[in-house]
Amino acid sequence: MRLVTFREGNQDRIGARSGDSIVDLSAGDSTIPSNMRSFLEAGDSVCRAAESVIKAGGPSYSPDDVKILAPITNPEKLICIGLNYADHAAESGMDIPSEPIVFSKYASTIIGPGDTIRLPPSSNEPDYEVELVVVIGKSGFNISESEAMGYVAGYTVGHDVSARDYQLKKPGGQWMLGKTFDTFAPIGPDLVTADEIADPHNLPIRCILNGETVQDSNTKQLIFKVPELVAYLSHVFTLSPGDLIFTGTPPGVGMARNPQLWLKAGDHVACEVDGIGRLENSVA
Ligand code: ZN
Repeated sequence: MRLVTFREGNQDRIGARSGDSIVDLSAGDSTIPSNMRSFLEAGDSVCRAAESVIKAGGPSYSPDDVKILAPITNPEKLICIGLNYADHAAESGMDIPSEPIVFSKYASTIIGPGDTIRLPPSSNEPDYEVELVVVIGKSGFNISESEAMGYVAGYTVGHDVSARDYQLKKPGGQWMLGKTFDTFAPIGPDLVTADEIADPHNLPIRCILNGETVQDSNTKQLIFKVPELVAYLSHVFTLSPGDLIFTGTPPGVGMARNPQLWLKAGDHVACEVDGIGRLENSVA
């Protein structure tokens, strides 16, 4: 399924794309939760109910008549992996990590497709990073790599907007502040369920800034792959339905260019992962 969170009137609901329309799942079956985290927490039986509503051709909308929101707005955790593409580590002047580099963003960073990334006045170095985002579907602790994919609900496209001066030039040597300004985590439009993606490690991924392709790679370049990340993180904390794992960005970021290329007001950014979707945002 290609799931979306959408607003119709002043109500937020869960839909699934079917042909050119969006099927309103909770209108088709009132036992289906109308927000994504509850939908994921409810598990397999609700997924099957959703598939039945789609098959029955439940109540639907044209995408033009609704606003598509971020697929999930209230994850318990938003976890990010740093330097997870070898050539991005090289362009950043950093060694290839021997274990995943992990940092976090707050849920307050999340915005949806078409929303505006608001550049903070206090940063002079706002940068772009397209990423494949893993959405956790099942609660788990100490998950083994061999079982890890069973905990993945699906995938979405993410943009790990990064203020490099706050990330790299503040005391303390950790990245969090530069990553977690309001609006710094656009995600969406769709949450594509894992069964739709034959291999998450063979997906072309790119970032297009004002019509120019600035990042262009493939998730086969990931150093730590999805099962390794799920297992590694779950040895520290319990992963919960709706948790998001930003898996890292490929080369081409603005920081590593000569001259450097920072986001500015008026920019338009499109982040694409083939098979998952295209996420567009303006910058102000
Ligand atoms: Zn990133």
